[in-house]
Amino acid sequence: MTHYIINKLFSLLFLVILFTGCNNPAPKNPGDTGILKIDSLTKAGYEIIDLHAHLKGGLTMEQLLEHSQKTGIKYGVAVNCGVGFPIQNDSDLSEYYHSVKDYPVYHGMQAEGREWVNTFSPDTIALFDYVFTDALTYYDHKGRRTRLWMKNEVFVEDADSFMNYYVNQIVEILNNESIDIYVNPTFLPEIIRERYDELWTENRMQKVIDALTGNDVALEINARYKIPSAEFIKKAKEHGVKFTLGTNNGADDLGYLEYSLQIIEKCGLEPDDFWKP
Ligand SMILES: [Zn+2]
Repeated sequence: MTHYIINKLFSLLFLVILFTGCNNPAPKNPGDTGILKIDSLTKAGYEIIDLHAHLKGGLTMEQLLEHSQKTGIKYGVAVNCGVGFPIQNDSDLSEYYHSVKDYPVYHGMQAEGREWVNTFSPDTIALFDYVFTDALTYYDHKGRRTRLWMKNEVFVEDADSFMNYYVNQIVEILNNESIDIYVNPTFLPEIIRERYDELWTENRMQKVIDALTGNDVALEINARYKIPSAEFIKKAKEHGVKFTLGTNNGADDLGYLEYSLQIIEKCGLEPDDFWKP
């Protein structure tokens, strides 16, 4: 008898849990919100293309395509090319291209460092749908090879002098390297990152924007670092700069381009404001 009562109690408890569960569904997966957003933008005429995806952290092309299917994001997959990166010469670059060319994605080349212009031939570069670079690697005023994401390679004695030199580097890159997109744009090293709005003055923004329009280079809205700022993007739009969306995933998580999509709304970007390979 006792056994019977215990069993009944357990059944009742089970029903109570089931019932409350139905009334209080688990909070929505953040991915669902992202997918709904992508869907509504697509219906409004935007083509959501992430042109800065990497096969990193074990991410395979098949997994990327699965994510694309699930989210509605189209992808451009970029290979990192340059000193210290997986692809360091022309024949490796060509071999890579032929190994991925049949996948239904855009094929991008991320040119790294400043040496790339003399490392790869125009014919091999031309196999790709697009080429981009960032301005995170350069030689500083004392000739030190600087990578802005490496703490031990960044020397900021005076933030304004650093910024002036950096802005000149960006402008030089845009003027002299044949690229389609400027990525990780306006990135600041960690030591001065919190001062972004103060250090990216009107005048500095304008110099970069003029170099973008003068060289017909698109500007990436980067989801990983949440850059450039809305202010920068609004100003760039006023001057006719075209934009792209980019994740720059460091691991196997491609995400949902949250920052980039927020910026579309915040800055009133329209489907025509985007560049496409
Ligand atoms: Zn990248």
